[in-house]
Amino acid sequence: MTLASWLDESKTFSVDAKTARHTPFFEPIVNTFNSGGYNPHVSYHFNPRVSAYHYGPRHPMKPFRLMLTDHLVSAYGLHQQMDLYETKKATQEELLNFHSEDYIEFLKRITPENCSKFADDLRKFNIGDDCPVFDGMYDYCQYYAGASLDASRKLIAGMSDIAINWSGGLHHAKKYEPSGFCYVNDIVMAILNLLRVHPRVLYIDIDIHHGDGVQEAFYLTDRVMTVSFHKYNGEFFPGTGNYDEVGVGKGKHFALNVPLQDGIDDDSYVRLFKAVIEPVITKFRPTAIIQQCGADSLGGDRLGCFNLNIKAHGECVKYVKSFGIPMLCVGGGGYTPRNVSRLWCYETSVLTNVELNSRLPDTLPFRSWFEPDYSLHPNLGDRYENKNSKKYLDNLLVQLMENLRYLDQAPSVQMQEIPPDLQNITDDEESRIVEKLKQESKIDKYRDEERYYINKMDDCKRGELLD
Ligand SMILES: [Zn+2]
Repeated sequence: MTLASWLDESKTFSVDAKTARHTPFFEPIVNTFNSGGYNPHVSYHFNPRVSAYHYGPRHPMKPFRLMLTDHLVSAYGLHQQMDLYETKKATQEELLNFHSEDYIEFLKRITPENCSKFADDLRKFNIGDDCPVFDGMYDYCQYYAGASLDASRKLIAGMSDIAINWSGGLHHAKKYEPSGFCYVNDIVMAILNLLRVHPRVLYIDIDIHHGDGVQEAFYLTDRVMTVSFHKYNGEFFPGTGNYDEVGVGKGKHFALNVPLQDGIDDDSYVRLFKAVIEPVITKFRPTAIIQQCGADSLGGDRLGCFNLNIKAHGECVKYVKSFGIPMLCVGGGGYTPRNVSRLWCYETSVLTNVELNSRLPDTLPFRSWFEPDYSLHPNLGDRYENKNSKKYLDNLLVQLMENLRYLDQAPSVQMQEIPPDLQNITDDEESRIVEKLKQESKIDKYRDEERYYINKMDDCKRGELLD
């Protein structure tokens, strides 16, 4: 045997089937430069039922993307890195902490069968093409909101440093009506919950659409700062989010908007994101952060028009995490399901400090949907012309820094009462809830046989997922 052939054989030997089976799909990156030595306790909040709802055959929002995400997270073994909670539905009382009673009653009653009887209400509550009535709509809302509320409670109780709910992030919903595929606003409800304990909460939104529902809910307060990066030209949905929307009254300067044009690339986005978020965090000094990780800002999204790759989107999440502030990460938009699931799986790995092999695990259910590359990081970055000139971005940054200058006398926000109309629970009740949560042991319901490896097709058709 020649040396060369021996080397070849040894190479073959090192990647035989058995070795490949036992090679972990991730490497811990704890205490490396990238993680900054911060090793947070992470929890994952999900109820698989939320992924079974269906907005309708031609509707771009596919809750099924949440199951794909969960399959990826599990196949990579990331669930071993987190506390897993199968979340409960939010109660009607919890939804009423933000939403109006007549709107929630309407959501509860309306079904595809009886909607002809509710013609006036359909108009009143702006139900239509974007926000259709579908089977189990109210239950769906309760599931995704329940998961964000559960995540916020684990942060409050100190049981998690980072809590993840990919089914949440429905940032457009308003107090009295649905908007942009969002029926109830889980983010607002989670922030209201955090405000019971946290003096200042920062909301960061990197969905391609303006986080209007969250901004509007906290436009008048200095206890919540909202920062949204999004496409803006006055027409793109929801039509708001120019840099001059900065808050009103006590909330003036506590809303920050970063309007972007089509085709922004990885480098400019990440550079701008860090240049804005660093002073926001150091000046506002949040005690808790909610980051909305909408995946429609990725390149190749069915409704989006940016050029971001998964690693650049994840870099924003990694950067916010590096400040070591308790954080709730939620999903949001994202209309190319295979890329949504790749992104949120990758971001789960970023939050749990592990590095994933970019080749998708062989054991992944529905693996064929990731063809032809079977990679966690397909190239998504070259579809659109970048209309954000250097001059545009430089001027924008100057304007944003000017807006932030007013935060120099950082909010002396003390623990205040939550405005009465936002409060539905007494301090005593709250401390009882927190105490009860602290006593709960870590729930480890997720025995393997209960994992939702559903190997049969969802009623969501394969073609829809791929288009
Ligand atoms: Zn969006």
